[in-house]
Amino acid sequence: MVKELKCVICKKTVKEMSGVISDEPENLAWDGGAVFRDTVGYGSRFDMKELIICLCDECIEKNLGFLTFG
Ligand SMILES: [Zn+2]
Repeated sequence: MVKELKCVICKKTVKEMSGVISDEPENLAWDGGAVFRDTVGYGSRFDMKELIICLCDECIEKNLGFLTFG
């Protein structure tokens, strides 16, 4: 069971919060971050591999400025 992940940009630890039970990390609650899971597509040497990506809130705010908030 996943308890914590590191932000892929700054390596800050993002910890799982209690209260949500799931075998899928992207569906758990993360304290100050977000977790995504997807399968790599054709063209990458990691084609068909599964990626779990964690982003802390600070990096979402600072590095993903193209997102629309609100
Ligand atoms: Zn970060």
